[in-house]
Formats: sequence, C-alpha cells, structure tokens
Amino acid sequence: MLKDKVAIVTGASRGIGAEIAKTLAAKGATVVVHYRGSKEKADAVKKEIEDNGGTAVTYACDVADFKACEEMIKSVSKEYGHIDILVNNAGITKDGLLMAMKEEDFDAVIATNLKGCFNCIRFVSRIMMKQKAGKIINLSSVSGVAGNAGQANYSASKAGVIGLTKSAARELAARNINVNAVAPGFICTDMTDVLPENVKEDAVKQIPLGRFGKTENVADLVAFLASEQADYITGQVIHVDGGMVM
Ligand code: NAD
Repeated sequence: MLKDKVAIVTGASRGIGAEIAKTLAAKGATVVVHYRGSKEKADAVKKEIEDNGGTAVTYACDVADFKACEEMIKSVSKEYGHIDILVNNAGITKDGLLMAMKEEDFDAVIATNLKGCFNCIRFVSRIMMKQKAGKIINLSSVSGVAGNAGQANYSASKAGVIGLTKSAARELAARNINVNAVAPGFICTDMTDVLPENVKEDAVKQIPLGRFGKTENVADLVAFLASEQADYITGQVIHVDGGMVM
C-alpha cells in the first residue's frame, strides 16, 4: 500500500510514534525513525522493522530547532530523492494549573508541539510542492479541541496544530498535498502512564467506549491518511478518542 514511499515520523522511539513507524513500514514505506535523545530505543524500533522485512533508518534532532529540522529534511531528501509522508508526532506535556504555570513550561510545550510541527512542514513542503504530491499528518489532541484543566500550554499547542493544519491544507492543496490532523483521546503510552490513578479513573468515565485507546488505534488512522485511499481528504481533524469529544 505504501511501497516506494519515504516517510518521516518524528518522536518515533516510543509510544504512538514508534507504532506509526512500524505500521507505515509494515505497509511498505521506508521509514525515518526520528528521535531526540533515545538512540537505543530508536535503534530497537529500526531493528524490529527490519526483522519484519521492512526498511528503516534513524535520525536524531530536536524538532524545536528550526535549523536542525532543515538539516534533517535536506539529508533525507538527498538520500532518497523524495519525501512522501511526514508525520509530526513528537510532543511533550508539562502540566500544571494556569495561575502557577512557569513561563519556561509554557514556552517549552509550544516550542516542541507547535513550532516543531511548523519547522518540519516548512522544509518538507518545498520538496512536496516540487513533487506535486505528499501527505502530512499532525498529531493534535482532544485537549486542543475541548481544552483541559491543567493543560493550558498543551491545549494551546494542540489547538495551534489544528490552525496550522488547516492553513497548510489550504496553501498546499493546489500542489496535491494533503494535510490532516488526528486528535487522540487517552491512549496508553508513557505520556499517560504518569497520570495519577484518580485522573485516569475520571478520564475513563468521560469515554463512551469506556476504555483508553491503544497506540495501534492511532497508527491505523495515520496509515490510512498517509495512503492514496485518503487522497480526497484534507484539512480535517479526525478524532480517535473512543467518542470522548463529539
Ligand atoms: P511519548 O511521550 O510516549 O512520546 C513522545 C515522543 O516525542 C518521545 O519519543 C520523545 O522523545 C519525542 N520528543 C519530545 N520532544 C521532542 C523534541 N523536542 N524533539 C524531538 N523529539 C521529541 O508520547 P505519546 O503518548 O506517544 O504521544 C505522541 C503524540 O501524540 C504527542 O504529540 C502527543 O501530544 C499526542 N497525543 C498523545 C495522547 C496520549 O494519550 N498518549 C493523546 C493525545 C495526543
């Protein structure tokens, strides 16, 4: 389904990103397993992909660093001659109540979650425009749609990702580039593992399907959006949240 496609997945050394990398590779894409510091984990994702007959390489950089993203996109483009799929998955949380939130915690979350997306789109869009083809998928969140107490920085960044997605979709549509966002609810990963038990119990009560999602639930949606089956879908925010926000 994704044979001969080259995909970059940011923050792919663990969690949802690792699952997306494995799923795209299983469908035939050559995957750039991007990571920041966890080389061993990124190498393990690459190895798992290769053990299953797929193709992957690893690349390290901080998505908040504009120049570093330019270098990454240049290097992947030079190596393969094309970049077909970009999945902006890297993200962080630094939760806290608004009135006590540190300035650096607000800035750090915006820099990674929102500017990181912009940085990669900024440089990949030039390549995809020349190709007159490409798929960009950005990880937003239900927090970006509905807000969440204790996550003003994170919600703002993920709402920003939605605005960025829609503007990019409008700008790039004429060159046959699809840009969409996915908005997961509560998915079992290291990011949600750290939540206190009472927060998790309260969260489950807000989910009509009555359970947290799995990384595969998000990865399958991303793989669909990256495929030609989604050629006529752009500028959308698709929820994968067990019905939490509807
Ligand atoms: P995670 O913390 O397990 O993984 C995030 C990855 O991003 C890590 O590999 C981390 O190293 C990488 N990363 C963080 N900052 C980076 C930076 N500056 N440069 C490069 N890489 C960086 O999180 P996850 O649960 O797998 O979440 C993946 C994405 O899905 C995130 O964007 C997150 O906001 C979003 N999301 C997750 C959930 C959930 O319930 N888990 C819900 C909604 C949205």
